[in-house]
Amino acid sequence: MCYFLNPNVTYTLLLTPLVFGTCSFVINGKSVPSLSYVDDLNWSYMFRNPQLATTLSNTYGNGHYAVDIVKYNSNGNNICNGYKMYSVGRGKVVYKDNTSSTGWYVVVKLDCGLTVRYLHMDTQNDVMVNIGDTVTPSTYIGNVGSLGAGSTGPHLHFDINNFDSYYGNNFSASNTYNPQLFFDEI
Ligand SMILES: [Zn+2]
Repeated sequence: MCYFLNPNVTYTLLLTPLVFGTCSFVINGKSVPSLSYVDDLNWSYMFRNPQLATTLSNTYGNGHYAVDIVKYNSNGNNICNGYKMYSVGRGKVVYKDNTSSTGWYVVVKLDCGLTVRYLHMDTQNDVMVNIGDTVTPSTYIGNVGSLGAGSTGPHLHFDINNFDSYYGNNFSASNTYNPQLFFDEI
């Protein structure tokens, strides 16, 4: 039994698991490495009410293999600075750092084999997890910020890759996923 997360996307089950086995998926033509549990792709959205940021200021593709998620008020002002971000699934924090392009960022390797990154936190104090931490969808990852070259305002740059990349090198259409496929909210 496998699940359909987004009604517009076909998730193809390649190998039928027994009850809790390993199965493989193809999502829009790219395979997901493994699923130790069939609900591993039943991801939780990273923003929660009342801090629910669901607007995209930049979408996936054309060299930007991620989504940029923001929140504007009715006057068009960006109000998501400091919004709390939570883990989208079960996994482990494998890296955190501050670079000129990313600001403070966190990398989580999910149990399903995919690696996700949360970019542009402003300070070390905005990062709520440490390398080696186990995370679940209730784990508070950090606060939205705008640190990093090219960031023009507070937003979460969230990306998903299948080659364990922490640094953003060699991101391409073939080794990343459009995060919109995983969340009905955006
Ligand atoms: Zn971005």
